[in-house]
Amino acid sequence: MYLVLLGPPGAGKGTQAQHLSAVLGVPKVSTGDLLRRHVDAQTPLGVKAARYMAAGELVPDDVVTGMLITRLGEADAVAGAIFDGFPRTIAQAHALDDVLRIRGGDLAAVLHFNLVDPAVVGRVEGRRVCPVDGSVYHLQFAPPRSPHRCDLCGGPLIHRNDDTAAVVVDRLAEYRRKTEPVEALYQDRGLLCDIDADQPAGHVTRDVMALLMPCSGDPRRVNA
Ligand code: ADP
Ligand code: AMP
Repeated sequence: MYLVLLGPPGAGKGTQAQHLSAVLGVPKVSTGDLLRRHVDAQTPLGVKAARYMAAGELVPDDVVTGMLITRLGEADAVAGAIFDGFPRTIAQAHALDDVLRIRGGDLAAVLHFNLVDPAVVGRVEGRRVCPVDGSVYHLQFAPPRSPHRCDLCGGPLIHRNDDTAAVVVDRLAEYRRKTEPVEALYQDRGLLCDIDADQPAGHVTRDVMALLMPCSGDPRRVNA
């Protein structure tokens, strides 16, 4: 089972990917999370990626695609993956086609999370993440039990340096310029499924599950 989750920053892709991963038994593969791990570890890849990420720009395709292929080589991804935030350019979409062809897999669906820009800003400004275990909270919509502390590990939560109103303007511009053409590509292939992301997370999950029900356990296309 391979799924792609597309949508602007803060639309809830990671939140829903987490849930889908548990239900479908395939890993969530978030290129943003993988890149942040490289940045934190100051690997050569991380050093190269950091300046693009801080500026709200996309990291070059060859860097992201190589990292993704390495991740898919891990044992837990043998039966599929939920791609959160990949592909974000037409070149990445074609690279994914090649990877899936080699692996003998098909995309079951591309879930497109719709959220208007003012809501995007509120989502990213309120997002807090645990740098240790990756748990995601929101000050208003999904607050931790103790202020600024992770429910799971008790450690301090952080506000990502690109989760500001200023940087999100550039992230949205990158989305429009480079990722909206990817939406159009999957629309033409009959794979794009629109999800209303401007409702409580539980309602979004309900809509996603209703959409995927026909194909759970069945790798055929959702829209076939
Ligand atoms: P993305 O992966 O698309 O950037 P996230 O899943 O990290 O988005 O969600 C962004 C922020 O919004 C997080 O703080 C998360 O807790 C919160 N969030 C996610 N889904 C919803 C929702 N449906 N309603 C309100 N807040 C949400
Ligand atoms: P995210 O965690 O999905 O919000 O991504 C955070 C940042 O990581 C983005 O603003 C980009 O700089 C970078 N990034 C994540 N995924 C990709 C991708 N598929 N292609 C290029 N850059 C990416």
